[in-house]
Amino acid sequence: MASIFTKIINGEIPCYKIAEDEKHFAFLDINPVAPGHTLVVPKHEVSYIFDLSEEEYVALELFARKVAKGLQEAVPCTRIAEAVIGLEVPHTHIHLVPIKSEGDMNFSRKLSIPSDEMQALAAKISAAVDIHLK
Ligand code: AMP
Repeated sequence: MASIFTKIINGEIPCYKIAEDEKHFAFLDINPVAPGHTLVVPKHEVSYIFDLSEEEYVALELFARKVAKGLQEAVPCTRIAEAVIGLEVPHTHIHLVPIKSEGDMNFSRKLSIPSDEMQALAAKISAAVDIHLK
């Protein structure tokens, strides 16, 4: 059965889309640990990041790097933190989280951001990321 992220990539489930290229997709985490928390996924559905081929792994990180650069410009923060956990959704994904301090990267404290704010965030981040994808 297709993962929830494959369904998002295929447009069967809505998301707050950030960016896409031929092999990757980025969208806002629905339960962010900080505003702008973005997930970066390969379109090829592989559960565990270290099971990706070397080529896929490097390409995913290079795409994530471009997303992180735009994210940092769009959301006030000190750095973009990166994490891979993957215990909930068995489809490789990198968490990119804008942080001001270490405590902002707390996966046991999720925020609930209203839909209109998520929409506005996604539009702002997406525009900034676009420049890095060209
Ligand atoms: P993990 O697999 O432990 O890295 O966590 C999966 C992440 O996916 C969590 O941070 C969830 O909030 C996020 N998530 C699950 N379903 C959706 C969805 N439909 N749209 C966006 N983010 C999601």
